[in-house]
Amino acid sequence: MGRLDGKVALVSGGARGIGAAIAERFLAEGAKVVAGDVLDEDGRQLAGTLGAGLRYVHLDVTKPADWDAAVAAAETDFGSLSILVNNAGIVTFGRIDEYPQEQWARIIDVNLTGVFNGIKAAAPALTRAGGGAIINVSSIAGLRGYEQLSGYTASKYGVRGLTKSAALDLGSSGIRVNSVHPGVIETPMTAGMTFDTGHVPLHRTGQPPEIAALAVYLAADESSFVTGAEFVIDGGETAGTVAPPAP
Ligand code: NAD
Repeated sequence: MGRLDGKVALVSGGARGIGAAIAERFLAEGAKVVAGDVLDEDGRQLAGTLGAGLRYVHLDVTKPADWDAAVAAAETDFGSLSILVNNAGIVTFGRIDEYPQEQWARIIDVNLTGVFNGIKAAAPALTRAGGGAIINVSSIAGLRGYEQLSGYTASKYGVRGLTKSAALDLGSSGIRVNSVHPGVIETPMTAGMTFDTGHVPLHRTGQPPEIAALAVYLAADESSFVTGAEFVIDGGETAGTVAPPAP
């Protein structure tokens, strides 16, 4: 018996990285999954690999009409919608005094307004299903500042705050809303970047399936009393700083 038997999930940014790992693990736990992304080729490839339990749809999270179509696909193809994972995101770097206004507008649009759009589009369907779970992927950059990351950090703090307010608004509909705050995870987003993990208590970066494992808990009925909460999954990075391991 799977931990998500009978549930239907919509995962944004589901074509690769953390979103694809969540989609794969949800399927393994018995859910049906609609994965939405702007990377149609990657998404279709994933659907081919994971089989009929996963439907790929084109979804630009900045476009409310795309969200409506993705929610409709879940209800039409799989009968209902019970889980929304707002995972799509982008990152851009730059000192705040040099960060272009267009990049600021774009990162807020994708990382924050995209989450708002998703919640708005999915909430009626989740209510029709008798309740459900929304999981918003923020970051440890939603808990503390990072240099050269003002746009990303602002967007991820925004996701954390939006999560709290949405949890208050939707609790009476049986919809739980929580945020997830990963540290450095090895995905296409971080490929090519170098990270010093000497100060991180577990002295390593994380892997997408580790985030997927937390998402399963938050999506499943076993977390039925959990809402408006933030879940840090960062190898201890935000708990404090440890000395680098001896050479
Ligand atoms: P990724 O780049 O591998 O995956 C992100 C996905 O989002 C991609 O498939 C991309 O096409 C999609 N996407 C981007 N813009 C979109 C849009 N407008 N509409 C729909 N889809 C869009 O990155 P990832 O590391 O898997 O990141 C997933 C989430 O986790 C992001 O929100 C990211 O900010 C967050 N996160 C990642 C890390 C990390 O270290 N990798 C750490 C903390 C938080």
